[in-house]
Amino acid sequence: MQLRFATNLPIEQYIQREAWRGVELDQCPLHPEGGCKIARHGTYSRKFPDGAKIARWYCRKGCTTFSKLPDCLSSRLPGTLIEVETVINQIESASSQEAAADNIRLDISLPSVLRWMRRRLFPIRLTLILLIELLPSLPDNCKPNFSSFRSALGIEFVLPHLRMLASPYLDILPPPLGFGPRPKAHKSKKNHFQHKTGTDPP
Ligand SMILES: [Zn+2]
Repeated sequence: MQLRFATNLPIEQYIQREAWRGVELDQCPLHPEGGCKIARHGTYSRKFPDGAKIARWYCRKGCTTFSKLPDCLSSRLPGTLIEVETVINQIESASSQEAAADNIRLDISLPSVLRWMRRRLFPIRLTLILLIELLPSLPDNCKPNFSSFRSALGIEFVLPHLRMLASPYLDILPPPLGFGPRPKAHKSKKNHFQHKTGTDPP
């Protein structure tokens, strides 16, 4: 189970300071009453960025492993939230996804780049749509894109800040921001971008 390590350390400092060593888990999320003897269970290494490790615990009674992901890192995607946001900014400012793909990854074919981009774009759009519903502090005219969130929040990078702002909802939000399940791929992905969440219209 993924938990949040609340920190404003950028990834370089998280690695340099080996910040995972100092991460604490106050109580077992499954047994807040205590008595389950939850214990530190080493770390696991992230493939990207190189050198980043994640603190881990194990509850024997619940047969569950817990890890605490720092706010700078993506959940279930390689790399950092800022890297994801940078890619989506490139897509948002390009004339089309194909045009953005020309500048984003030169090492793989166009269909692969488009898939790679949509793996980021689709769950992030869904997350922003959900957050507009969930966070009353966002203005009513906030749109599910980064430029709208940037001006609403008055910050350069939205995602690390949203990890903090949306912390009560991380279990239901999809990765790479949230720790919930990946959204299921539907036959018509286009509908997902167009429909608002909520009940069906009459
Ligand atoms: Zn426990």
